Amino acid sequence: MTTAFLPFAKPVIDEDTIRAVGEVLRSGWITTGPKVAAFEAQLSEYLGGRIVRTFNSGTCTLEIGLRIAGVGPGDEVITTPISWVATANVILEVGATPVFADIDPVTRNIDLDKLEAAITPRTRAIIPVYLAGLPVDMDRLYDIARRHNLRVIEDAAQALGSTWGGQRIGSFGDLVSFSFQANKNITSSEGGCLVLNNADEAKLAEKYRLQGVTRSGMDGLEVDVLGGKFNMTDVAAAIGLGQFAHIDRVTARRKELARLYFDTFGSDFEARFGAQLPPANFEDSNWHMFQLVLPETITRADFMTQMMERKIGIGYHYPCIHLLKLYRERGFHEGMFPIAERVGQRIVSLPMFATMTDEDVERVVGAVESVLS
Ligand SMILES: *Cc1c(COP(=O)(O)O)cnc(C)c1O
Repeated sequence: MTTAFLPFAKPVIDEDTIRAVGEVLRSGWITTGPKVAAFEAQLSEYLGGRIVRTFNSGTCTLEIGLRIAGVGPGDEVITTPISWVATANVILEVGATPVFADIDPVTRNIDLDKLEAAITPRTRAIIPVYLAGLPVDMDRLYDIARRHNLRVIEDAAQALGSTWGGQRIGSFGDLVSFSFQANKNITSSEGGCLVLNNADEAKLAEKYRLQGVTRSGMDGLEVDVLGGKFNMTDVAAAIGLGQFAHIDRVTARRKELARLYFDTFGSDFEARFGAQLPPANFEDSNWHMFQLVLPETITRADFMTQMMERKIGIGYHYPCIHLLKLYRERGFHEGMFPIAERVGQRIVSLPMFATMTDEDVERVVGAVESVLS
């Protein structure tokens, strides 16, 4: 009997969605159009009626969020070293200075005490990241932002369907960015959306999205800000709509799988192997990923190789941003954020996607235990 390869993430596109994409392709209108409008309306309804605009990535949403917040040269923006590099790249992209604060070893998110300690008179904004879909303490985050008069651009790329105090991430707060990249809980193949505070911000977001253009009347066209080319297509929106129809089921299944991981690893797993499980949060997290921090007894590369030999795909999210060459060249180095540096070298993402079976989880746990022993 041959065992199929189990990837760590897998987009699942149903036949209705494939049909809807076919209809868009046959319709004669394949760029931004009615599907984008429908997707934005559904996202807005899901996020408590807040204004939502879609884009072609969850990276440009962050960059545009920074621009809307008026962040630019001379400003500092505080974020976490443990995220996809996009989170910090956008700070450089708008000409501002990235400032990192170390992470909390349990949640693996930015440590809010260290964030507050990193605030200077030049700090303009914070980009918190909800790694694996687990939010930070949102009350404290916004308390810090209010007291220091800072804008917040939430990198909620992984947190669609996550909640805080029963409220969905994105349904409250300042500017909130989501990604629909292929590995996210809901995908549009590539894409993202930004949740905005008011009509003025929405207007500005629309300008940044498409060359700064405002149209009026039959043939009126004006450009008063430098925008780019960041619009979502109706082809992508049709995928997003098809996916979004299943968000509650997908989130519920991920929570079930996470619970099963905990049950199967058992309460003595950490003591037996010296590895660290994620926080067992079934209240707030959408369980975008299930991540272990490996013990010192094995390198991540060896662990990944041996899991691969057992036909199991393992991800690593993420190596520290501040230790990448582009950031080292800006003065960052080892020793600055010791917790992030340890986690960045040892964190692994186990398979987690909505169509995984209970048996898949058992197979992964068995393989992890055999590799670690
Ligand atoms: C996926 C992701 C992004 C970037 O989103 P794209 O849609 O790939 O541009 C940014 N931050 C985090 C934390 C992500 O997981």
